Amino acid sequence: MRIILPKSEIQGNRVTISGEKAKYLISVLRCEIENELQILDGEGNFYKAKIISIANKKVVAEILEKSLVSTESPLHLILIQGILKGEKMDFVMQKTTELGVKEIIPAITERSQVRHTRKVARWRKIAEEAARQSGRTVIPVIHEPVELSAILETKGLGEGETRRHGEMKGFIFWEGNGFPLKEAIASSPLPPFPASPIHVLIGPEGGFTKEEIELANAKGLIAVSLGKRILRAETAALSAVTLIQFLMGDIN
Ligand code: SAH
Repeated sequence: MRIILPKSEIQGNRVTISGEKAKYLISVLRCEIENELQILDGEGNFYKAKIISIANKKVVAEILEKSLVSTESPLHLILIQGILKGEKMDFVMQKTTELGVKEIIPAITERSQVRHTRKVARWRKIAEEAARQSGRTVIPVIHEPVELSAILETKGLGEGETRRHGEMKGFIFWEGNGFPLKEAIASSPLPPFPASPIHVLIGPEGGFTKEEIELANAKGLIAVSLGKRILRAETAALSAVTLIQFLMGDIN
């Protein structure tokens, strides 16, 4: 069994787990004394522990070893996803976390039908749960929604602040007339990948406008294709992250 605990709660060689997480261990996972417990602190550390007591809605575990095994991709993938309707965004949060993204920025685009949301806290919970479930040692950062124009233009910057042309590395996925992804990766001046963030832009249900594609191009993002068929946005997000992890990251 596996749980995520904030690093501040893991001090010394014993941890006391209370509240929701203890309830989860006791009632859902039905933990018992002597069970092995894997603890992730969400910051890259992994601990092997053993449950030594279960009482008063609290679970106490003894830490046996701290391990440096990391399940993280070497890529710093930032998914910029046009906000989707209904549960589709939950799906994207969960699945792209499993696939190893480091950050997700919900974006409001020209064709967004959803322009306000109160779901950020819920998305953060989904990402944490997916990180725990897939044995990730880092929980992706889920940002507050941002206007795509603010990401791509100089809008919102103070006086004297300018964003340099071509400063963003990554790909904008476009069903219109994008380059084949493999070619774009092979031919683009991508170093210092994988250290620098790679942005992955996926549109909302209605797709990106031509102007958004042009702005993204001007920022240095390459418009790429996922083939001749038009995919639903959530399929596109999963495919894009999977293929980039395959071509550049740690899916071999
Ligand atoms: N506006 C389109 C569909 C947009 S699909 C239409 O209805 O005709 C939603 C998003 O998924 C797009 O903005 C794009 O980022 C991505 N996407 C879907 N199919 C794609 C493909 N074949 N190649 C690249 N990106 C794709």
